[in-house]
Amino acid sequence: METESKDLNKSDKDRGEAPSASKLGAISLCRGHHNANKIFPWYGERSEANEGTLRHEIEENEVPLDEIEDEDRKICAYNCRRAMRWCREDLGLDNSDTTIEREARLWYDDKWSGQLDYMETWSQMGKMDEGLLEYAFIADYKMLRGNHDPAPENIQLLAQACLVTKNFPNIHKVYVALIEPFQDPSYTTASYSSSFLRGKGAELNTIVLEAEQEDAPRTAGSVQCKWCSALPFCPEARELLKTTLKGKNI
Ligand code: SF4
Repeated sequence: METESKDLNKSDKDRGEAPSASKLGAISLCRGHHNANKIFPWYGERSEANEGTLRHEIEENEVPLDEIEDEDRKICAYNCRRAMRWCREDLGLDNSDTTIEREARLWYDDKWSGQLDYMETWSQMGKMDEGLLEYAFIADYKMLRGNHDPAPENIQLLAQACLVTKNFPNIHKVYVALIEPFQDPSYTTASYSSSFLRGKGAELNTIVLEAEQEDAPRTAGSVQCKWCSALPFCPEARELLKTTLKGKNI
C-alpha cells in the first residue's frame, strides 16, 4: 500500500466560512445554525477539542505507541489502530495494492467540504462483465468519550462519502467506518453505492444552499443546539427551554 500526504484541492485555511461535513448534521436540523455560528464565536471550553486534535495528529503522523507518553492517548491510539486493522481485514485489504491518504480535504462545488481522517482507495475486478472497479474506504475517528451516531446513521460520515464520489467519479462503492476507541464496539460500519451517494450529495448541497440564505430559519433541538455558539443568544433555543421547563412544571 502507498501512503500519500494530505490535500487534494484546497488547504484547510481556504475553507473560509463554507460549512464542513462535521456541521451538516446540525445544519440539516437547523438551517439557521450556519449563519448563527458565523456571527457568534465559540466562547466555551476548548481543552477537549484541543485534546481531540492532538489525538488526530498522533494518528495522522502514525506516532509509534512507545513514543506516546500519556497513558490515555496511548490507549486511544492502540484502540484506533486495532479497530482500523479489523476494518481493513474485513475488507480484505491486507497485502492489497491500495493508496492511503490522511486528512485530505475534499470539496463539493466550492460550497462545502470535509476533511477525511483516513481514506484508502483501490481497484478490484467486479462480477461477470463488470471489469475493474474502484472502491474507497473512509474512516472517521471520534477520539474522546462522547456518544455519536453509529456509522449507518452518521450524517458527517455520509457527507464525507458523498464528497468521495464527487471528487472521484469512478468510485463504484464507498465503505465507511466510525472508529470510537473508548466505546464497545470500537467501530461501526456501513457501505454506500456511488449512485446513492450522488443523490444524497445533491440533497446535502441543497441544505447548504438553504442554510446560506440570510433568512435561514432556526429550529431548536437538543442535538443541533448543543454545540451551537449562538445558544446563549438564540430566541428559538430560549423558547424551547421555556416550553420544556413549563412541561416539567419547573
Ligand atoms: S441555538 Fe439552536 S436554534 Fe438557535 S441557531 Fe443554534 S442550532 Fe439553531
